[in-house]
Amino acid sequence: MTDIQLYDVVILGSGPAGIQAAIHASRKKAKTLMLGRPTNSSLYWAHIENYCCMFQVTGEEILHIGREQAKKSGAEFMDEDVLKVEHNGQWYELLTEGEHLIRTRTLIIATGTTRNKLGIPGEKQLLGKGVSYCVDCDAGFFRNETVVVVGSQSAAAGGSLTLAEYASTVHLVCEKLDVAPSLRARIEAKGIIVHEGRKPTEIRGENAVESITLDNGESIEAAGIFIELGAKGVLELASTLGIQLDENMRYVEVDRKLSTNVAGVYAAGDITGPPLQMAKAVGEGCVAGIEAATYAKKLKND
Ligand SMILES: Cc1cc2nc3c(=O)[nH]c(=O)nc-3n(C[C@H](O)[C@H](O)[C@H](O)COP(=O)(O)OP(=O)(O)OC[C@H]3O[C@@H](n4cnc5c(N)ncnc54)[C@H](O)[C@@H]3O)c2cc1C
Repeated sequence: MTDIQLYDVVILGSGPAGIQAAIHASRKKAKTLMLGRPTNSSLYWAHIENYCCMFQVTGEEILHIGREQAKKSGAEFMDEDVLKVEHNGQWYELLTEGEHLIRTRTLIIATGTTRNKLGIPGEKQLLGKGVSYCVDCDAGFFRNETVVVVGSQSAAAGGSLTLAEYASTVHLVCEKLDVAPSLRARIEAKGIIVHEGRKPTEIRGENAVESITLDNGESIEAAGIFIELGAKGVLELASTLGIQLDENMRYVEVDRKLSTNVAGVYAAGDITGPPLQMAKAVGEGCVAGIEAATYAKKLKND
């Protein structure tokens, strides 16, 4: 165990929400630390076309530039995950995977979400090469192509309807289509081909997606595979502090200042819920960074 390090603002997460929070908090002269690995940000694998004033830029590039900006603003970094958070008197105490003990007046949770994976061969290798977890982000890349959506609930059904506006053919692979009758009727009316009672077993392709294999041996040729199983937040740390979650226990509840129900704890980005988009993450990071720095200053002066 190393020495205890003290901060005004500690940010869990080094994706766009965390970076923007770090820039704003440190520019308000709060002693700021950002934790987490940039390579674990959802953005690391993305090609962004729908973020204002930037076109066709990779997520990896954005993360690199943002980190340099945050560093110039005075923020510090530690590329480690946090394993434990506790509230101890006036401080939040964090233990990192490298056994660093950190104390902070305020905390910003910007840990993003873990999109549910299928865990089948080809999924990881072809991510960003036809495999996507975000219809709203990537539908436009599949104009006049055949695509397959995997998932049984409203996220997959809604995603199929969106894709039907772009793609020539949309297949929906689901174990049991568990949606309202009206949504099912819209799926049928759009000519979406539903493979009910089926599970995918493999995504195939050399440098880009070529086909998906189902558990009955059938193969569907497609350029895009959209996995829409829903998004699950990294919420274990939040729950140990008694932070209020939404009714589905997926996302952190926040107010307009991005404050949680626990004083001095803020949340920003995907962890606060949809839309799971960079623009929202950056905007929330800005507000949370300013609010946390202001609150830390007030605590210091009290
Ligand atoms: C393939 C793909 C394509 C996408 N395309 C687009 C697009 O075109 N346009 C768009 O707007 N959005 C897109 N997105 C979504 C976008 O990437 C996310 O909305 C955005 O990255 C959310 O930012 P965030 O900071 O909330 O979380 P993330 O960027 O996911 O960052 C989370 C951070 O938290 C850290 N972390 C997690 N647990 C811990 C812990 N215990 N301790 C410390 N750190 C922790 C992670 O290491 C990571 O650094 C895409 C996503 C994917 C996966």
